[in-house]
Parts: sequence; C-alpha cells; structure tokens
Amino acid sequence: MAVYIRKSDLSQKLRALGMEAKFDVSGYPALLSAKRRMRFSFIYPSVGKGGRLFPLFKVLQSNACDGNCYYCANRKEREFRRIRFSPSELAKLFTRYYRGGVAQGLFLSSAIYGGPTKVEEEMLETVRLVRERYDFKGYIHLKIIPGADDDLIAEAAKFADRLSINLEAPSPAHLSRLSPSKDYTSQLMRGLERIATLNKESPLKAGVTTQLVVGPSGEADRELMELSHRLYKRLGLWRVYYSGFTPLRDTPFEDLPPCSKWRETRLYQADFLLRRYGFSPSELPYDKEGNLPQDMDPKLGWALAHPERFPLEVETAPFEELLRVPGIGRISAQGIVKVRRKEGIGGLEGLRKMRVVVKRARNFITIKGKFSPSPQKREKAVNEQLFLWEEL
Ligand code: SF4
Repeated sequence: MAVYIRKSDLSQKLRALGMEAKFDVSGYPALLSAKRRMRFSFIYPSVGKGGRLFPLFKVLQSNACDGNCYYCANRKEREFRRIRFSPSELAKLFTRYYRGGVAQGLFLSSAIYGGPTKVEEEMLETVRLVRERYDFKGYIHLKIIPGADDDLIAEAAKFADRLSINLEAPSPAHLSRLSPSKDYTSQLMRGLERIATLNKESPLKAGVTTQLVVGPSGEADRELMELSHRLYKRLGLWRVYYSGFTPLRDTPFEDLPPCSKWRETRLYQADFLLRRYGFSPSELPYDKEGNLPQDMDPKLGWALAHPERFPLEVETAPFEELLRVPGIGRISAQGIVKVRRKEGIGGLEGLRKMRVVVKRARNFITIKGKFSPSPQKREKAVNEQLFLWEEL
C-alpha cells in the first residue's frame, strides 16, 4: 500500500523531533562519523548482527515536557516551539521512509507531557500501527517512560525488539543534581527492573538497555562502572550507553564544561572489558579521583599497572589470560588457542594472521620463550619492558 502524507508541516516536525532525539544515545561514539554520512537529521547509524551498520529512524513522539531536568533541551522552562506527532502521523511517516529504503528500524522516545501513562500510550499506539497496519517486521527500540503503567509496559514488550529506561545517573544523590522531579529508586530503577524481569520471562530480540549522562553530576568513572557491572550481572542488561554531557543554551547547565569525547570513549572501552573480557570494575585502572586514564585505553592501563602478569607465553597461556593482553581480542585469542593445538603459533606473522595487533601485543608476550618488543620503539619498549618485568 502506498503511503502519502499531505500535511506540509510534517517534515518540519520530523526535522525538529529527529534532531532532539539525538540526546538519547544508542550507539558507540565512533558511529558519529557514520552519522555525518546519513542524509537526514533523524536517521542514525546503528549496529546490527555481525557489526553491520543499519539506518535507524530516531524520533520523539513529542518535545513537550512537564519535567525540568537541568541539562535537557526539552525542559519545561526552556522557551521554544513545542510539537507532537499523533500516532497515525508518525506511523505513516516512518513507513514512508522505511519503504523508501531510507530507514531500516525505528527508535521511538519522547519528552513527558500529561503524565507518563498518557505518553506511553501514544508511543505504544504508534508502534502498534507500524506493526499491525503497516506490517513492519523490522527492528523497533521503544523507550519506556518512568512511572508508566505496568500493563502498558507488558503490552510494549509484545511490539518492541528492545525496551529501555534511562537511569541518567549512578545513584539517587547524583540524579538529584540533574533532575528535580525524578525519583531514582521508585521510578527509574523500579521501571528498569520491571522491564528486565519481563525480558527474563520472555526474552526480547534485542534485550533491555539504559543510558547514563556523563559529566554534570560530578560522578566518577568508577561509580559508573560499578553500576554498569551490577546491571549486567543482576538485571541481565544488554547494554549501558554513556551519553557525554553537552551544555545547551538556556538551561541551568549552559556554563558547565562538556564531557570530553575521550572520557566517553574510555567508558565504552572499559564497559567492553566488563562485558566481554572478564574484568571486574575494581580491576580497572582508575586515578585517585576514581577516573579512567584518558590518554590510553583501559586494557593497556591495566596491563602497565600489572607487570607481574607479563610477559605471557602465548603457546601455553590460558584463554582468559590471553584476553588480558593489549592487542589480543576475543577472536584472536580463540584463534591462538585453536592454532597452537595443531601446528603452533608461527611467530609474530602467525599472530598477525589471527588479527592480533602485533605492534601492541609484542611488548607483552613471549613466543616459545622469545620476547620481541616493537623494533620502531625498541628503546622505549625495552625501557618499558625493564619497568614492566623488573621483578621477574
Ligand atoms: S523528563 Fe526527560 S524530556 Fe523532560 S526535561 Fe527531563 S530529561 Fe528532558
């Protein structure tokens, strides 16, 4: 069925509500360069199965809000035009872009007007139309509004591939510095627990996620990592997203400094170590303020702080130990374990073929007892090596 929208202001609404949806983060910051290549402000790159990039139609149902969070573009006391899509308008618009090959999935969020249940009902009606009237079978990420009715949340789980609630901060005290009207425990955490329980009973295709705002509440990286670790272990979250703060005009936080892109990047790298590499939050290399180093990735920081663990003999080291070597990822560690059983590693060249970042890893490993640090930086590598292995 052809879908045609005649109202001329819909594209203006879409530009505005698509731009404002950018504050809801759903991807790694490296994807921002891919974002620049997207044709429309409301289309965002997302990562699908096998690392494939696919374009997501990312939009707010409305930017009208009863809330007054200090950092937010949509806060009640900020003067700008408030607009809203009706469910049928938005469902038609998405379908047009989907059928036109511009979007492959939908990410729907909203500011909160007239109470959480009213907003959630409208969003739910939008995705219901997209699924039932327009027969869309692809990916839908639906935000759950904190405080929304439990029955609505259960209904939302039938239509969405992913549900999320933004926790915003690592503790009630930090949240109170960001949002005067949100209750951390009874609204945000309870809501997240509710959707995580639904997901355990009947798994969503793309699980449950949350987002933390990084910077303005004065939280340390250690607090963010400890919270994320608990959420992965206790609630089985799929992902935690870290949204680096950007000061916005006409908000109480307009003069605060922005979060550096490096801080955001290091948080994603550290998060990866928690989820995929068996690190615990207490092992990460924090400074005395509890923050990760920004001048090196946290895995390298950990390795430099643990000279007693290196050099590691790759012909015999257990898989879990290989994972801790800078430059060796999960796929290359699996390759090493498989290959060495049959014919042996085959030196640095063999490691390179297994996608090891040799220039980094060679400073932390031996192959059949031979240590071969990076030749370009031999002096530095040897100095580092003396520093690293002086106790061996
Ligand atoms: S409730 Fe949400 S949309 Fe409203 S001001 Fe707070 S963060 Fe912004």
